Amino acid sequence: MSALLEIRNLKKHYPIRKGLFSKQVGVVKAVDGVSLTIEKGETLAIVGESGCGKSTTGRSILRLIEPTEGDIIFEGTDVRKLSPEEMRKFRTKMQIVFQDPYASLDPRWTVQQTLEEPLRTHEKLPEDEVKRRVAELMEVVGLSSYHAHRYPHEFSGGQRQRIGIARALALKPKFIVCDEPVSALDVSIRAQVLNLMQELQEQFSLTYMFISHDLSVVKFISDRVGVMYLGRMVELAPTQELYDKPLHPYTQALMSALPVPDPETKRERIILTGDVPNPQNPPAGCAFHTRCPVAKPECGSVPPEWKEVSPGRSVACHLYS
Ligand code: SF4
Ligand code: MG
Repeated sequence: MSALLEIRNLKKHYPIRKGLFSKQVGVVKAVDGVSLTIEKGETLAIVGESGCGKSTTGRSILRLIEPTEGDIIFEGTDVRKLSPEEMRKFRTKMQIVFQDPYASLDPRWTVQQTLEEPLRTHEKLPEDEVKRRVAELMEVVGLSSYHAHRYPHEFSGGQRQRIGIARALALKPKFIVCDEPVSALDVSIRAQVLNLMQELQEQFSLTYMFISHDLSVVKFISDRVGVMYLGRMVELAPTQELYDKPLHPYTQALMSALPVPDPETKRERIILTGDVPNPQNPPAGCAFHTRCPVAKPECGSVPPEWKEVSPGRSVACHLYS
């Protein structure tokens, strides 16, 4: 495998302003130094509690929100150096599927119009070719092109997400950020949409960044998993290894909540006490130390290094340094 995307020290900091003159009084470090490589054709999942910076990471990579710092290298192109016009063209390679397809589809547009829009703005295609492509896109995601004249509200949640996926595919991207794509769907149709995404990945050689807080879904869909806590990556590992033997105490706590397939193997449920700290004022040292069941004295003052502990496996925790 070779790298499709390399992210180095990605940061997104938001200034906090107050008062009449909008004086800056602090900063929220939504993403604070994430580095990772995404291989061609893989699915890299990003997991963590809400507010940990998963979505901000995905959106910063696509520059839907502008990163504060860091490099985004996509097949050798330094994405952050592209001008707005170059970026507009480049974005055809990198797309996003949102959590809530209903909110992300314009209710006043038919499916036909929704799917035509990217084709018309980016590609100057003759009219019959546009029609043909829309029909093809609908069929590729398992919808009948007879329904192209319908509006989003005339479809079920699962069908709307298929339309969201079709729209992401319209410009033949290589990379798709999937931001909680099945979280808003009924449990009964999640598997169908996940299966579809896997088929499409195969068919179109897609690479996914799959953002989710649902560890069962992540286990099913991903090749590797990155675990985030308060804007930072705390562990990154091949999926099976992470689920078999989580190393970081935070990952261990997340995993302990999962049902075990074999009832013989007992797993102690680790209940984290304390709330997720305020990202405006994260704890010093290891940001997890306020909730970590095995914290050591130095954890409260010395930030742990991000360290490769075995091939393809990295963790940021003093227990492994
Ligand atoms: Fe726990 Fe310390 Fe490891 Fe942080 S560095 S996860 S506080 S043991
Ligand atoms: Mg999110």
